[in-house]
Order: sequence, then structure tokens, then C-alpha cells
Amino acid sequence: MHLLIPAAGSGSRMRAGKNKLLINLKGESLLYWTLKSVFLSKSISWVGIIGQPLDKENIMQSIKEYSKNIVWINGGKTRQESVKNGLNNLPNNAKKVLIHDGARCLIKPSDIDKCSLKLNSHDAVVLAVRVTDTIKLVNKFGFITETPNRENLWAAQTPQGFLVEKLKKAHDIAIKNNWAVTDDASLFERLSWEVKIIEGDSLNIKITRPVDIEIANLFLNSD
Ligand code: C5P
Repeated sequence: MHLLIPAAGSGSRMRAGKNKLLINLKGESLLYWTLKSVFLSKSISWVGIIGQPLDKENIMQSIKEYSKNIVWINGGKTRQESVKNGLNNLPNNAKKVLIHDGARCLIKPSDIDKCSLKLNSHDAVVLAVRVTDTIKLVNKFGFITETPNRENLWAAQTPQGFLVEKLKKAHDIAIKNNWAVTDDASLFERLSWEVKIIEGDSLNIKITRPVDIEIANLFLNSD
């Protein structure tokens, strides 16, 4: 299985003054921990990191021994552009791909493998968890307009897995139609292509705000 790691964000919500993937957690960079899980999973044979050219040297240094086993790909202005660059740089023989955000360092290797396995029987899969809060739709004036039924609500995470040809096609259609999305599954939904949910773990958070760093420090397994 091929795996692409979008890692080209600026992390402005973290206010760290640098790419949040370089933040130190238990002595290693955030991205190091993500890669540790990726390389502990049994199903992944090729890994591409999509990053900003300016971050390349720091990222390569921070991921230590893993730097020898990854392919570097230059990222774009948005996550969507970064993933598209990643897809264009996959080896020609890549039939299936998992996309995993660099910022989700608490991913369990077994959940990566679960996504790989499910991609044998579906064209698109997404790791997700049931929502526990009651979610409100709010208008631009700050008033609630609707409360969707919680039974049907899931929070999407990564890995998200796809047949390479289909995902490439979806990205091409998105460019032609000016669609802007924050994950890859959204492209499939717009095209009415099926995406299968795989129940994941609520600890697989995307490190985004300063409080997430404290959570990661509590739950990272540094053995
Ligand atoms: O900003 P956000 O946390 O939603 O980003 C999700 C992932 O996408 C992060 O791992 C980030 O590094 C990546 N990203 C990217 N290229 C961008 C913006 C974000 O690869 N231009």
C-alpha cells in the first residue's frame, strides 16, 4: 500500500511560529511520531511526505532514520493542492493510496492496516468516529438554524483511502469546477461516489490548537 502524508501546512491556529509538524513532543518532532506509527503498520510499503520546500531540511532532520525511507514531494497552497501534487508523484504501479495528515500523530498502526484492508472491498474508505456532542448549524449572525440528528453524524479523520485512478479523476474534476474541499472524501461525495466509513478511535485527533499538544504528550507511547 502507498501512503501520502500532507505536511505542507503553516499551522497558523497553533501560533507556534513554524510548521506545527516540527513542534517537539517527548523529544521528537510531531511528524516523527506520525511516521513511527506509519512504519509500524504492516501494510505500508511506500511513503511520500508532501511538504513546503522551505521546511524540507528541518523536516528531514527531525524524522531521523525514517528520512531514508520516504519520498519528498513539494506541497501546494492548500491541502487540496498538496494532495494533488502527491498523487502526481506516486509511482506508476500505485493502484491504491492512503492519505494521512501529518498532524495526526496518535494514529494507531492497526487502524492504518484496517484502512488498507477495507480498501480491498471498497473504492474509498474513511476512518471516522461517532460524534458525541450535539452539533448545531449556525448562520453568519451567530444564530442556530438547525440541529442535525446525531445518529447520522460522524467526525471524519485520516487515513482516507482510495483507488488512485478514481481519486486523480476526482481532483481533476474539482479543479475544472473550482471546488474547494478540506478532505479527499468530500470530492467523492460531490460526485455521488460511495465512501465507506470505518469506525476509528477518538484519540486520533488532528493536532491543531495548543491544548492538543498536551493531549498528545499524555497519550504518545515513547517506548
Ligand atoms: O490545516 P489543517 O490542520 O487542516 O491541515 C491538515 C493537514 O494538511 C496537515 O497535516 C497540514 O500539514 C496539511 N496541509 C498541506 N498543505 C497545505 C495545507 C495543509 O499539506 N497547503
